Amino acid sequence: MSGPVEMVVEADEPTAMEVERAGDILTLVCHKSSHGAGWWHWTSAVSGKCDLRNECRNGTRFGKALVAEKLALIHSEIAEAMEGHRKGLMDDKLPDRPMVEVELADAVIRICDLAGALGLDLGGAIASKLAYNLTRPDHKPEARAAAGGKAY
Ligand SMILES: [Mg+2]
Repeated sequence: MSGPVEMVVEADEPTAMEVERAGDILTLVCHKSSHGAGWWHWTSAVSGKCDLRNECRNGTRFGKALVAEKLALIHSEIAEAMEGHRKGLMDDKLPDRPMVEVELADAVIRICDLAGALGLDLGGAIASKLAYNLTRPDHKPEARAAAGGKAY
């Protein structure tokens, strides 16, 4: 049986435009879902109903703290993925899936949500960074195998 990874490896190489589009779709879907669930709204006694995206996009001190909070939540998903992998656990909410798989999905969802809130071109950045990484001398197998090369 082949899973998603095997299917991708056997498939034709996606174009940069397809990679960018995939990132754009994930960003849109994840942010729309989060925004729709109210995670970007806050009602203050002082200023009333507030769209927290504006705070983040306008770079207010409060907005910067919100971005830091969202980044910390992304960290927490990665830590959960590590614990799941370390202990070989299945996920408690999706028990047919390994915890590491579900927590990595949570991290991607949170990353795409934040990118959407900030209006970032995450899909374009992923496509550009993948292309750039292919040109990096320090990422070539011979450079990694050399003395002082990146072991991982
Ligand atoms: Mg989680």
